[in-house]
Amino acid sequence: MEPISPLEQALHAARALILADLIAGDVAEADVVSLVEDSVAQRRWWVEQWPDGARYVAGLVAQDVQDALLERYGRWPLCPVCGHGDPHALDVEPELGPDPHWVCSKAGVKVAPVGALGEATGGEPLS
Ligand SMILES: [Zn+2]
Repeated sequence: MEPISPLEQALHAARALILADLIAGDVAEADVVSLVEDSVAQRRWWVEQWPDGARYVAGLVAQDVQDALLERYGRWPLCPVCGHGDPHALDVEPELGPDPHWVCSKAGVKVAPVGALGEATGGEPLS
């Protein structure tokens, strides 16, 4: 077996982070998981062209999946901070940068790092 390249590690980590957030939001259906796979496949091509972008992959995959879910499923992830008004989705910040977070642009708060949404939304850890 070949050693796992940093690029593959970044893609693998991104996939795991987004899946953790989907599971936290109870939307990790089979077809949703395939959206993640599609995004990771596309970003593999992208990061092969631009290896310096490996650190940005998690944030990009999160946004890809968010966009794909908006068409099929609806807004995701819903903001857990604002209890009133129209339900709205969290945004990924930075859009292109390392260490991506879910933020509520209405309240102007960081809700959770990508991959840790379950802790922020009070999801019970699986026992
Ligand atoms: Zn909000």
